[in-house]
Amino acid sequence: MTFIDTHAHIYMDRFEEDLDKVIHNAGLSYVTQILMPNIDVSSMKRVMSTHERFPEVCKPMVGLHPCSVNESWAKDLKALEAYLDLDSIVAIGEIGIDLYWDKTFGEDQEKAFIHQINWAKDLNLPIVIHSRAAIDISIKIVESLQDGNLQGVFHCFDQSLEHAKQIVDLGFFMGLGGVITYKKNKEIRSVVREIPLSSFILETDAPFLPPVPYRGKRNESSYIPIIAKWVSDIKDISIDEVGKISTENAKALFSL
Ligand SMILES: [Zn+2]
Repeated sequence: MTFIDTHAHIYMDRFEEDLDKVIHNAGLSYVTQILMPNIDVSSMKRVMSTHERFPEVCKPMVGLHPCSVNESWAKDLKALEAYLDLDSIVAIGEIGIDLYWDKTFGEDQEKAFIHQINWAKDLNLPIVIHSRAAIDISIKIVESLQDGNLQGVFHCFDQSLEHAKQIVDLGFFMGLGGVITYKKNKEIRSVVREIPLSSFILETDAPFLPPVPYRGKRNESSYIPIIAKWVSDIKDISIDEVGKISTENAKALFSL
């Protein structure tokens, strides 16, 4: 059995005390690699130091999170550009649009999103998209920049079947995490049932959004098999098969 956690913020403070154990436990749960989406300029240093500490397991991304887009976004992107040349970078992420809490910088979020998609296109890297309360505009932007080579994932997928089909048409993946285990999310589970596994990858979004029965606790990469078990039950296939196909998808997308 093998899995890849395609989205985990294990470089954050909440893992500082026991990161060795977290990585070890991930290995015991057959999670062989953990991809780390960046948030802002200051977190980028910790993403890189975590990669240097666990170079085979923890792989870095470069990106400015939409919730970190403020009046200094252009300057922040300039600072993040310094990391783009590193060979270890597996994706541009996480980038996108989040209008859930605050719409103040909505237009700036769009500009920063487009700017970073163009990085990905120049460097031939995939993009990891964070979209909250903004799925239509996010899809529209990706569609307008899709030149046939752009690849990526809509992380933490929690949308309708109609949106899932649009994402598949774009040639993009959807990231499945703890939210598929939440009681209220019947619609997401029916999307998982309808759409072939070839469009899905697995993720935790650790330390956030832990699967049932760990809600309210810190999420971590060793919970990936719980998500895989839900997918295997929904699709009525073995958990090995879920691991195999989702790992192949992640390897292809991120060139691992
Ligand atoms: Zn994230």
